[in-house]
Formats: sequence, C-alpha cells, structure tokens
Amino acid sequence: METKLHLLYNLQQTDSKIDKIHLLRGELPLEVQDLEDDILGLKTRVDNLQTELKEIERLVAQKKIDFDNSKSLIEKYTSQQNNVKNNREFDSLSKEIEFQGLEVQLAEKRIKENSVLQVEKKSALAIAQEALSERGIDLENKKKELDSIVAETAKEEEELLKKSAEISAQIDARMLARMLAAYRKVRSNARNGLAVVTVRRDACAGCFNKIPPQRQMDIASSKKIIVCEYCGRILVSADFEDQ
Ligand SMILES: [Zn+2]
Repeated sequence: METKLHLLYNLQQTDSKIDKIHLLRGELPLEVQDLEDDILGLKTRVDNLQTELKEIERLVAQKKIDFDNSKSLIEKYTSQQNNVKNNREFDSLSKEIEFQGLEVQLAEKRIKENSVLQVEKKSALAIAQEALSERGIDLENKKKELDSIVAETAKEEEELLKKSAEISAQIDARMLARMLAAYRKVRSNARNGLAVVTVRRDACAGCFNKIPPQRQMDIASSKKIIVCEYCGRILVSADFEDQ
C-alpha cells in the first residue's frame, strides 16, 4: 500500500509540473482559438457581402439597360407621331410613350434605391475587411508568442507526460497484482472455485445474495474492484457475459 501511495504522490508531482507549464501558456491558447473563430465569422461576412454587392451591381446594370431601352422607345414613338395618318394612331403612340415614361421612372427609382444599398453594403464590407485584417495580425502575433513558449517547454512537457503515463501504468500494474492476489485468495476459499462472478437477477451469481441498486451501478461502471459483501467474490457487470 505504501509503495502505491508513493507512486500516487509521484504522479501528482509530475502532473502538477505539467499544470505549471500550461499555466505559463496562460490564456494564449484560448485567445488564439477566439481569434480563429472571429476570423472564420468575418470571412463568412465578407463573402456574403461580396455576393450581395455583385447581385446589386447586376440589378443596377439591368435597370440601366431598361432605362435606355425605354428612353430610345420614347424617342422612336415621338418621331413616329410626326408621320401619323390619323388621330387613332397618334393616340396609340401617346399611350406607348406614357407607358415607357413610367418604365423610365421605375428604372430610375430602382437604380437610386440600389445605389443607396450599394453604398451601405460597400461600407459594411470595408469595415469587415478591416476587422479581418486586424484580427489576422493579432492572430499572427499571438501565435508567434504561443509558439515560442511552447517551443521552450515542449521537450519538458513531453518528458513529463511520458513520466505521468509510466507512473499510471505502474499503478495499474500494482492494481492488477492486487486484483490477481484477491482472485487467487477467493478462488482457494470458494467451494466452486469461482472468484469472479456476474450480477444476475440483482444478486451475486456466486452466493445469490441481493446486491443494492447503488452497488449494482458501481459494478456496472467497472471503474473499481467491488467484492460481494457476503462471499467476497469479485463482482463484474452482467455485460461481461456477452462479450
Ligand atoms: Zn456473493
């Protein structure tokens, strides 16, 4: 038991040293992560704004074509009015001119609206792009800082992690040895030679005494060695039977 406590103490010492290294890195890893998230969000925003601007430009270009078309139609109909044969033809052309006049107004209105929108979107895009480049610089600096700290401590951390794993393995080995000793002891005492039994119908499959629900849950989690309080057999989850 004492050796095991020594191992546990050593594990604690080693893990504490690893904690100290992580403390030295401080908030940097989190800050780097936050910046990377920000940048991802800003990139999406820039992409969306650029797509929206393209659509606005396309719409404005289309409305300019509509505007020119209606203007030239008005010119054409107006000159045709000079060569009409009767009043009916003249009135019909007047109606066309009136209609194209409305089309011109509508196109102008759409161009104006979209130009305002274009200015807004362009300014939003500029703000997003500037934020993106600022965050990019921040990220580069934080990453450099973090990298240099990591570089300084990487070797030490690697060694400590290895040591921690080794001690854990030793503790595991001792646990295994203790389990094996318990197994042999119970086997030599048990009449049927059964030292490890499952839980069956809420009872120990060795002595058939009922096992309380909380204890059954502990057994099912397989996190520690649990022995039957009546017969001393090691109890394992019923799932073990199927495997
Ligand atoms: Zn039992």
